[in-house]
Amino acid sequence: MKVIADLHIHGRYSRATSQQMSLREISRFAKVKGVNLVGTGDFTHPKWLKEIKETLVPEEGTGLYKVSGETEPYVHFMVTTEVCTIFNFENETKKVHHVILTPSVETACQINDVLKRYGDLDADGRPMLNMTAPQLVEEVMAISSANMVFPAHAWTPWFSIFGAFSGFNSVEECYQDMVKHIHALETGLSSDPPMNWRLSRLDRYTLLSNSDSHSFWPWRLGREANVFELEKISYIEVVDAVRCKDPARLKFTIETDPAYGKYHWTGHRGCNVSLSPQEAQKLGNVCPVCRRKLTKGVEQRVEELADRPADFKPENAPGFMRLLPLSEIIAAVLGVDSPSTQAVWKIYDALIGR
Ligand SMILES: [Zn+2]
Ligand SMILES: [Zn+2]
Repeated sequence: MKVIADLHIHGRYSRATSQQMSLREISRFAKVKGVNLVGTGDFTHPKWLKEIKETLVPEEGTGLYKVSGETEPYVHFMVTTEVCTIFNFENETKKVHHVILTPSVETACQINDVLKRYGDLDADGRPMLNMTAPQLVEEVMAISSANMVFPAHAWTPWFSIFGAFSGFNSVEECYQDMVKHIHALETGLSSDPPMNWRLSRLDRYTLLSNSDSHSFWPWRLGREANVFELEKISYIEVVDAVRCKDPARLKFTIETDPAYGKYHWTGHRGCNVSLSPQEAQKLGNVCPVCRRKLTKGVEQRVEELADRPADFKPENAPGFMRLLPLSEIIAAVLGVDSPSTQAVWKIYDALIGR
């Protein structure tokens, strides 16, 4: 069975998220998009968790959930969240985002009981926790060995494991002895598999792609996703395929062009400056407009850590497919600014209705 999974999204209690973001709407638009496995997001938030409990029911023996009342659901839900750990490492403050997957609402509650000791879970859909990355993994894995933790959007300049501002240089450095539980990393919108393949130190990790969407619209939800071929759809089948980095089960990831992500190039958005790593180095990483230090983009950060040429592909790595959201392609052809206009929807509906 083909499973197209988007495992990192946010609910309405996360900052900058649409108030209409409900689990029923997510299910409705995931079906429109063709995503049949979606993360609930934000299970650490008490109000969102309440909505999860009220809206979803377990699908017996699968570790997944469906919208209550549906008999043959197209869309299945996995219980997921994202957290931010803030800690000191070698006299630097590190802020790293992590995605957590768990097989049930019960294990989610147990995780929350532990994590609330480290931060205010009510404050945001993606809570800030005063704990180290290895502490987080140790606590989460102690609750159930079926749980999974992986670094979110691994390359964004802020809040990521390799970020140019407060990142580490390796997965091992970040997770220390708990790295034994880390099997995957999320490439994020600003990087794609070929960029990550340039680091031999990442060969043992499975590259995952998720949308990190804050809305259910089909030009956001599932814009990046993972395509599995599984005997049946279940939590453990998905997690096992990721742990084993099995290209027979994790077939490929869906990627937007990395330049689509806002952090791909080095630059200053306010100054309208966007540069390749070579151009930025030539200018001494100083903005030619305001003369302040440039925000180092993902491409340049990869270049710093890479030990392989740009066209290297490791053996047995799952492949990828580069796609842009259909609504955005239609909007570009029509020459309209927004993918949400009626004219775009009309063509979109006609195309996917076939
Ligand atoms: Zn994040
Ligand atoms: Zn996120």
